[in-house]
Amino acid sequence: MSSLDDVLDQRLQSIRAAGLYRHVRRVDSAQSPHLRLDDRDLLSFSSNDYLGLAEHPDLKRAAIEAVERYGAGCGASRLICGSLAPHHELEEAISSFKGTEATLVFGSGYAAALGTIPALLGTEDTVVLDKLVHASIVDAARLSGAKLRVFAHNDLNDLEEILLWASRSRKGKVLVVTESAFSMDGDLAPLKDLVQLKERHGAWLMVDEAHATGLYGLRRRGLAEELNVAAHIEIQMGTLGKAVGASGGYICGSRRLADYLLNRARSFIFSTAPVPAAAAAATAGISLIQGETGRARTAHVWELVRQLASQFAPAQSGNSCKTAPGSAPSDSPAWRLTATSPILPLIIGSESDALRAAAALQELGIFVPAIRYPTVARGAARLRITLSASHTAQEVARLGNALQELAL
Ligand SMILES: *Cc1c(COP(=O)(O)O)cnc(C)c1O
Repeated sequence: MSSLDDVLDQRLQSIRAAGLYRHVRRVDSAQSPHLRLDDRDLLSFSSNDYLGLAEHPDLKRAAIEAVERYGAGCGASRLICGSLAPHHELEEAISSFKGTEATLVFGSGYAAALGTIPALLGTEDTVVLDKLVHASIVDAARLSGAKLRVFAHNDLNDLEEILLWASRSRKGKVLVVTESAFSMDGDLAPLKDLVQLKERHGAWLMVDEAHATGLYGLRRRGLAEELNVAAHIEIQMGTLGKAVGASGGYICGSRRLADYLLNRARSFIFSTAPVPAAAAAATAGISLIQGETGRARTAHVWELVRQLASQFAPAQSGNSCKTAPGSAPSDSPAWRLTATSPILPLIIGSESDALRAAAALQELGIFVPAIRYPTVARGAARLRITLSASHTAQEVARLGNALQELAL
């Protein structure tokens, strides 16, 4: 039998040959547009810290105070003796922010998905996913053992066909899962139509607002708020690691949902509680998002989105880039640039071309990650630009000029 390392060596070689090899880059600075990365100072357009809260003094202070009062670790799972005051305060803060009865916090968004779908569904049931949902949801759906069906991205006709099929031939419950703002494309789900459809067919709906919370809606709760459908979504999911600026994940909805998940979600039950610093920082982030800081930063990031889009998408009108949810992103010969979110993908196609484009930008002092399979489909590699409220208009102009210089 060949040794483990020999087998892995072969596998790694084929990953490299496909242009899919990955490594971690060492960052020696805080999360900000100015990254000290692999010993170089780079202007970064890569973080999901959309509002620049990860290094906000309020979050840092909340984390430090929580450490001083509650220590570095929690010692046990939430259900044993690890359910500290900061977790309870955070869950109350999220419920009040999102306008739901209850919230359950998990160690990460990934853990929230992985605990929730298998707790709700079994082999009798059916789970229907948008083609582009995040890996955490795909993994959770598989783990549940439910019959898994996928509908074409944002395609309501395809979804309806599957729902009709399920009502004819499946006995159990049906759960539809989508993201609201899609993580790698930045386009939006047609949540209003999805809600109508799932209600017509008696299905449940779970919406992952990972890239929408803090950015959409009058109170910045997310796209469900903006489209006024939050009350019709049975399960709202999110992460505390993106616009909120901290770490952790959550599910919010009814009190019964939270009670049930606390009893049945294995990633909640069998995992040590999130550290007090993370919970307290997240509470501070939620509080900032709801106040003047959130209002001003969200307005600024949308201003930057409009600025970059108007430089790159002459076909689009310059005054509003928030096109209707579900509308197709604009296409152009070599790339397309959506402007419905601070996620602005430049689709390159081949994995190696995407890597070359990212390397060329780095030569100009700009860091934009090349996103490849398995994060996106094979042959749909891209540069994923993300804008943050901590960028300045000048920095975004520098990015725009670099992209034009490289003809990307
Ligand atoms: C990042 C992300 C998650 C996972 O959240 P973490 O807190 O990072 O584990 C889930 N869903 C989507 C759409 C994401 O982008």
